[in-house]
Amino acid sequence: MNVADSIRLSSVLEQIGYLPIGQPEQADVIVLNTCVVRQSAEDKAIGRLSSLKKMKEQHPEKTICLMGCMVGVGDTTALKKRFPYVDIFSAPSDISTLLGYLLETSKVPTEDLRSIAQSILEKDEGFTLPLEMRGNAVSAFVPIVLGCSHACSYCVIPLRRGKEISRPPQEIIREIQSLAGQGIKEVTLLGQIVDRYGYDDPTYPTLAELLHQIHQVEGIERIRFLTSHPNWMSDDLLDSMQALPKVMPHFELPIQAGDDEVLRRMHRGYTSEKYLAIVEKIRARFPVSSIATDLIVGFPGETATQFQHSLDLLELAKPDMTHVARYSPRPGTYSTLHMQDDVSDAEKWERFRAVEHLQEQITTNINTQYLNNEVSILFEGRKKERWYGRTPTNKLVFVESPTPLIGKIKNVNITWTGPWSMIGEIAQ
Ligand code: SF4
Repeated sequence: MNVADSIRLSSVLEQIGYLPIGQPEQADVIVLNTCVVRQSAEDKAIGRLSSLKKMKEQHPEKTICLMGCMVGVGDTTALKKRFPYVDIFSAPSDISTLLGYLLETSKVPTEDLRSIAQSILEKDEGFTLPLEMRGNAVSAFVPIVLGCSHACSYCVIPLRRGKEISRPPQEIIREIQSLAGQGIKEVTLLGQIVDRYGYDDPTYPTLAELLHQIHQVEGIERIRFLTSHPNWMSDDLLDSMQALPKVMPHFELPIQAGDDEVLRRMHRGYTSEKYLAIVEKIRARFPVSSIATDLIVGFPGETATQFQHSLDLLELAKPDMTHVARYSPRPGTYSTLHMQDDVSDAEKWERFRAVEHLQEQITTNINTQYLNNEVSILFEGRKKERWYGRTPTNKLVFVESPTPLIGKIKNVNITWTGPWSMIGEIAQ
């Protein structure tokens, strides 16, 4: 979501005359878009921000904007006191505060550009890709649900991104049409609980219905969405996915813990049994599909046995990928206020490594099944003399080819598989 916000902001700044530049020392406007989902991310953001202080003292004319989850949607008084050298504090996804400031302080250079800035502030004009993506980007993120109202006990996102708000469907479709017109072939719809799209406004379609509308957008070849929640992965949604060939059989379905007591204390609202039942249903309906999951290790009070239940669940569910995180208390969350962070750092690391080790084995086995099979790849870039792209199931595949492949969909025979990528040859 932060990447999507940064891309949007870059685009708007470019439209009013600014260009990206490699070094903060050379920049007129510096935006630090922050994530605080874990302590380590927040520490990194504070480190970067502190490193800008001296520069701002020497060059007070530079504009520094702190954006994102570190600012959040609430009162910024404490932040202003702590970082007085920051000019602007913007909530996640908020572009208008910085734009308004640049207009007010006459930092939008010409009359023409000022009128563009004004019209961006006043109306939704679709979305222009920023320069570095223009002409070469194949995939784009499209946020469709902002914020989250779920309140898992460990999660700071509802406190920082605010309550769940779905974007109007017309705005989403217009944006995707505009992206398709700029060469984008694949869109990934984003939401903290993306399957809850439309639940906050009875006049909006559901995600299942929205997928049908997006499917009609000419030029868009592939559609993905993330992140799902086991309680909202409806049969209607699965029906739409099955009916619409452009919707990729790729599921991002977090479990967070494999132990029911830990899940209860996480306020996740489901059991491991329910999770496994959904996984089974997905695999029955989509024999060729992939499931990625999220897992937290070292949640307050998580015993060795409870952690073992998480490993057991991974053995049973066999996800294609586990995004594993070590628990860290986040300010204001229920778990921070009411539970003790009592699993040692060393133990959290050990559990983290155990999950990574197990996942590597699971993914290696899954990927081996692709060997000598033909898969359809949408190519998105080039690295180390090879073109790379993704299977419908989101597996990364590298291919050698004398002709450029970016933006093309080709059938590829897989000749080598590893846990994190595969190699193939264009099928004749
Ligand atoms: S569903 Fe839970 S983990 Fe996901 S953003 Fe909402 S509160 Fe956080």
